[in-house]
Amino acid sequence: MKIIRERDGVSEQADPANFVGRASVRRLGDLDAAGTARGFLVSFEPGGRTNWHRHTGTQLLLIVEGRGRVQSEGEPVREVAAGDAVSIAPGEKHWHGASPEAAMTHVAINLDATTEWLERVSEETYRGLE
Ligand code: MN
Repeated sequence: MKIIRERDGVSEQADPANFVGRASVRRLGDLDAAGTARGFLVSFEPGGRTNWHRHTGTQLLLIVEGRGRVQSEGEPVREVAAGDAVSIAPGEKHWHGASPEAAMTHVAINLDATTEWLERVSEETYRGLE
């Protein structure tokens, strides 16, 4: 799992040869896929989260509102916020959701991916206590 923080991003001016008007571009990540991309807008209430799961292809999460938490198996729980992006590798066991105190909305883009749903994320794991 890789988190691309909004604050760490480098915005570049779009090439005026290809754009009318000023526009800035920030690269969020490279996604290698040749097949179908499926997009989902998912809104979690505070404390809400997915079960643990895996995708057969890459998943890119674009946090568009609020604050949330993500975790890859064997790594700590990490906080994310609007403007951050998270890329998740094929087969990586993980979960994503809101923070305990705030809602979170993300766009999920799944590339050539089906999802294998696994066990629930325990309260202790969600709180980062284990
Ligand atoms: Mn996922």
